[in-house]
Amino acid sequence: KIVSREWQPQDTVIDVAGVPIGGRQIQVIAGPCSVESAEQMEAAAAAVAAAGCRLMRGGAFKPRTSPYTFQGLGVEGLRLLVEAARAHGLPVVTELMDARDLDVFLEHGVDVIQIGTRNMQNFTLLKEVGRIDRPVILKRGLSATVSEWLMAAEYIAAAGNHNIIFCERGVRTFENAYRNMLDVTAVPVLKRETHLPVIVDPSHAGGKAWMVPALARAAVAAGADGLLVEVHPRPAEAWSDADQALSPEEMARLMQELAPIAEAV
Ligand code: PEP
Ligand code: MN
Repeated sequence: KIVSREWQPQDTVIDVAGVPIGGRQIQVIAGPCSVESAEQMEAAAAAVAAAGCRLMRGGAFKPRTSPYTFQGLGVEGLRLLVEAARAHGLPVVTELMDARDLDVFLEHGVDVIQIGTRNMQNFTLLKEVGRIDRPVILKRGLSATVSEWLMAAEYIAAAGNHNIIFCERGVRTFENAYRNMLDVTAVPVLKRETHLPVIVDPSHAGGKAWMVPALARAAVAAGADGLLVEVHPRPAEAWSDADQALSPEEMARLMQELAPIAEAV
């Protein structure tokens, strides 16, 4: 398998517009759940850069549980995300839900294409992002086993794109005291199985902002190559996932807490 350590023993380092991901340098991708407005994105990008994060996230096409809630700004959201991030020198990460939107993502200069949890086994979509060379973040499916996740990545690799980043974001279990159970164990398991980078999303795991720092610290201590964190200039006003968004101050504090842990692993 192309994604396996047997195929390639040494760690792959993926270059995202000059920012290296993998090979034990911790990179933090931060930004709001959803792109909402130019003003929100400028404030978010300024906060992300000031905290020391080197990449920015923001959802323009949102996979919402209910069709009656905000679905994302679509192409206008891509434009606002790229504009704000570029002004602060941050490459962008955003979710692709439909292969028909791939060209518009590339035209807008999206640096990393995120395949969300709900599409981890959308094999048609995986084959499509396999045909390009833009890096892809493959989030773990809600109830996907590690081997199903590796095979989903193999679909992308087999189609020709080897620039894949795994993202653990918690799995569905019996527990309902938090949104998803962060599978920290998956980090060392994946790092052993694959040469590709492994990052962790503590935001969609905990589902509450106060849980995010503890999960983020655990992820880095467990050997993750980076994090994907939701941050909003005014968390209480966020149009989606308001409960789990860090404020700019909380994001900056978390970055300071992570530095000595990253140093120690
Ligand atoms: C997201 O990161 O915006 C998202 C929807 O996360 P997930 O696919 O992990 O639920
Ligand atoms: Mn979200």
